[in-house]
Amino acid sequence: SQPFLSVKDLKVHFSTEDGVVKAVDGLSFDLVRGKTLGIVGESGSGKSVTNLAILGLHNPDSTKIEGSIELDGEELNGAPEKTLEHLRGNKMAMIFQDALASLSPYHTIGTQIGEVYRKHTGASKAESRARAIEMLKRVGIPQPDRRVDSYPHEFSGGMRQRAMIAMALVCDPELLIADEPTTALDVTVQAQIMDLLKDLQQEFGTAIIFITHDLGVIADIADDVLVMYGGRCVERGPKAEVLRTPQHPYTFGLLGSMPSLDGPVDVPLNPIPGSPPSLLNPPTGCRFHPRCAFAEKVPDGRCAKESPLLEIVDGRGKACHLTDEQRREYLTDTAAKA
Ligand code: SF4
Ligand code: MG
Repeated sequence: SQPFLSVKDLKVHFSTEDGVVKAVDGLSFDLVRGKTLGIVGESGSGKSVTNLAILGLHNPDSTKIEGSIELDGEELNGAPEKTLEHLRGNKMAMIFQDALASLSPYHTIGTQIGEVYRKHTGASKAESRARAIEMLKRVGIPQPDRRVDSYPHEFSGGMRQRAMIAMALVCDPELLIADEPTTALDVTVQAQIMDLLKDLQQEFGTAIIFITHDLGVIADIADDVLVMYGGRCVERGPKAEVLRTPQHPYTFGLLGSMPSLDGPVDVPLNPIPGSPPSLLNPPTGCRFHPRCAFAEKVPDGRCAKESPLLEIVDGRGKACHLTDEQRREYLTDTAAKA
């Protein structure tokens, strides 16, 4: 079906005292309604910056955005702040790791959820309160008609996260951006929140972008996976294919930090030595080459000279010079040495 969100050749560059940071440097992807795209990568890979750009929440004075961000056929890059403000909360919404940062300590949960609803629908106070109770019930808060009058500090971490989800979804947004929303929670609560998001998606057909550094979370919730490194997409595809038969050496490395996935993973399980690239002065050629153990298999030092193009066929692709043959050879050599 038609993509609901279409990002084309997105570049997000920040001016700093030290120069221009190319936080996102040529990113393209599509998302259809009702599906979840998992964006995975280390911190500094550009995943959160991408999503702030979609929401229009970057600082316009220091940030330059190029490329296209189309939401339901409407171009967001360069759209007036008034348009974006209307879309935020109504058509697209976000949830973060830290619910306390998006909830005010001075107002009740009900007032805050109700305010978002009033702002976008013009509903009365009574209607907004009723809607807040309905949403609290929907996200599994017990005794919602009492809890609606609680303050955020009176909620547990998991309940605050639920309240934030209720606030994000109060106007039935069609796109939900979730940036590490379960990272701070214990495993049981994390699983409950993930189940809740899946249920809500089923019910409302919401498109979800789920940002995480945790491939276990991706395995649980995503339909498709986009792996980011150094401001670019290095691999993307359906979840099962990316996790079971990854094609990019960086993805191999990420999988190495997640040994608990069920099913076979056809890669050596090793952490990736080295650290993420500077985006002020990115490495030449493939940005991953200073850390890539496979680069030696590609002849003529090509990895350090030439930036690999991302080739996507039927939603599956990678940006890497390595041929299937060379990858197999390397893996066989490594297995023989072990
Ligand atoms: Fe490694 Fe070369 Fe592929 Fe980059 S292009 S991931 S350096 S093999
Ligand atoms: Mg809406």
